[in-house]
Amino acid sequence: MSDTDTTTGPNAADEGNDLRTPIVAVLGHVDHGKTSLLDKIRGSTVIDGEAGAITQHIGATAVPLDVISDIAGSLIDPSDFDLPGLLFIDTPGHHSFSTLRSRGGALADIAVLVVDVNDGFQPQTLEALDILKRTQTPFVVAANKIDTTPGWNPQEDTPTLQTIEAQSERAENTLNQRLYEVIGELSDNGFSADMYWRVQDFRGNIGVVPVSALTGEGVPDLLTVLMGLSQRYMKEDMAVDLTGPGAGTVLEVKDERGFGTTLDVVLYDGVIRTDDTVVVGAKNDPIVTEVRALLQPRPLAEIRTEKRFEQVDAVTAAAGVKIAAPDLDDALAGAPVRVVRGRPEEEVVAEVEAELADIEVDTAENGIVVKADTLGSLEAIANALDEAEVPIVRAEVGDVAPRDVAVASTADDPKHEVILAFNVEVLPDAAQQAEDRDIRVFSDDVIYQLVDEYDEFVSEIERAQQ
Ligand code: GDP
Repeated sequence: MSDTDTTTGPNAADEGNDLRTPIVAVLGHVDHGKTSLLDKIRGSTVIDGEAGAITQHIGATAVPLDVISDIAGSLIDPSDFDLPGLLFIDTPGHHSFSTLRSRGGALADIAVLVVDVNDGFQPQTLEALDILKRTQTPFVVAANKIDTTPGWNPQEDTPTLQTIEAQSERAENTLNQRLYEVIGELSDNGFSADMYWRVQDFRGNIGVVPVSALTGEGVPDLLTVLMGLSQRYMKEDMAVDLTGPGAGTVLEVKDERGFGTTLDVVLYDGVIRTDDTVVVGAKNDPIVTEVRALLQPRPLAEIRTEKRFEQVDAVTAAAGVKIAAPDLDDALAGAPVRVVRGRPEEEVVAEVEAELADIEVDTAENGIVVKADTLGSLEAIANALDEAEVPIVRAEVGDVAPRDVAVASTADDPKHEVILAFNVEVLPDAAQQAEDRDIRVFSDDVIYQLVDEYDEFVSEIERAQQ
């Protein structure tokens, strides 16, 4: 992205549309501090009662502009901004990131890639980078755990790649050096990067913001960079008709006492109201149903005495909401949800079908069986397998069931007598049958590890055949 990258049309915001909150996802390697960072952002924004307050949504946390400006102090002049704030998706990790799709892209408008400065780029960092590249999602790097490293010296000038070598020799094993390494790794992966201590200017490069999720140092800078990035590069995309029919993505399909099967949804467009007819992507045909209740979490203070949720009449994008409605049992995590309003129902059903077909994985006549917990993760694995030239015979959302073992048993190549299970259970019957029929089941919740395990298995077979 660069300063000249203003590809979207003329000021959509000036044509009667409203600006919605940008949706932010947090990615990174395990233990690099994603959860802590989200907690810190939530924590540091709860304290102040003067400014507005953050609002807890289903699956997300909204941090309004006045709160960000309060935290960021002199870093931000709120009058420079007209976006309403930031909506952080509460479940960190690229797994949820790739699950969450909106029309043709990632649901998150912007991402924070968390990198532990002591640990540098790790496999899941690279995997996250790949996904961010593929989905063309703008992101900021949070270089985390700076409290654990000695010797940070804020530089007068923003370091450039050319200065890295010279600097790093002098600053061996200090925070500076580790930050240079992060910048170097970004560069190795095709991104140019700038380092921020105190926020300067977003110049189209990837911002690397040193932070500590423990002490909160750098969090104001991070929020400032995110807000600046959104305002500068995403304002056009945020201009939507907030009175139009709602569109969202299913985060989770959950049983909720008193409500039956419910959907946790992140709404990225329009408004959803009680009694609206909605179309939801499902295992077979899309579900058409009527919203019985829209639920949001109650403020923490009230939870002890009251029920966990409060009912609201309407929810406007961007927001996280729980939808209670009949017939939701077959709904799929990662599938689209659309409100039918002012258009023929069939048209909306056809749209949801088309969106689902878009996520569906191409299968071959011969290949392995893949099971995953959501459509998005299924797609992510299929992409990884496609790159590794591994054909897939069956790709489905759900636990590994006897039917999957039956399909794997019909393979005419030992390399295909395999089931890859991503973040799902292997049902006991299926496990037994797999053992009886000598079908290998690989289970993991990290895509590259799953693909690696399969590669290793294929190498073993090939060695045995020689
Ligand atoms: P996640 O797996 O990426 O969500 O990582 P967590 O947020 O669970 O953090 C992993 C560990 O690192 C936990 O023990 C945290 O307390 C610790 N941690 C996270 N951020 C920081 C930080 O900025 N400084 C220090 N010292 N520890 C941190």
